Amino acid sequence: AEVDTVSDRVRRVGVMGGTFDPIHHGHLVAASEVQAWFDLDEVVFVPTGAPWQKADREVSPPEHRYLMTVVATAANPRFTVSRVDIDRDGPTYTIDTLRDLKAERPDEELYFITGADALADIFTWRDVEELFELANFVGCTRPGYEMDEKTLGAIPSDRVTMVEIPALAISSTDCRARQRRGEPVWYLVPDGVVQYIGKHGLYPKETS
Ligand code: ATP
Ligand code: MG
Repeated sequence: AEVDTVSDRVRRVGVMGGTFDPIHHGHLVAASEVQAWFDLDEVVFVPTGAPWQKADREVSPPEHRYLMTVVATAANPRFTVSRVDIDRDGPTYTIDTLRDLKAERPDEELYFITGADALADIFTWRDVEELFELANFVGCTRPGYEMDEKTLGAIPSDRVTMVEIPALAISSTDCRARQRRGEPVWYLVPDGVVQYIGKHGLYPKETS
């Protein structure tokens, strides 16, 4: 009998974690590039719960960040959104994200996607050894964030792959600041996200 090699291959799934406050085209291009590069069957976007890295600022409610992520990814048949982090109490740790996703899909191969800035933080994360057992890591280039030799040298090359993606100097911080100043965020974030921000009055103008 003929062997169906296509469906026998282990399913490969990208995991794109982020605060997504708001999601922007830098996130979407990174996910799309890594999807094509590794021939991923799916990329799951995972909005964080209470992000402990950002304790210094107010983060929009998880439900808004989740829905903006759904709106932004809806048209791509390979993109999905997971609630694992926003439905878990407490701050989000990547180890918990990966454990939960692995429990949901034990036979799938996970590829955790991060920008160069987030990858540089990886050694401050919990349980680095187990992280590398749960997933492959993919580091995407990001304008304004160069990885120093020390960080690059500490990365186990069999578990982390660096991918050069088209440079988009877009950040959520800048999108929020623009919205607050009444400047356009059109074309930095998907159209539906511009409309969602307006509809719900996110990032309101500071009245002086
Ligand atoms: P903030 O300014 O609020 O930190 P951000 O733009 O950095 O927002 P995050 O939600 O913090 O967005 O990022 C989620 C992930 O996407 C991180 O791994 C980050 O490095 C990556 N990322 C964000 N923007 C880009 C970009 N323009 N190019 C490549 N990777 C990006
Ligand atoms: Mg960031």
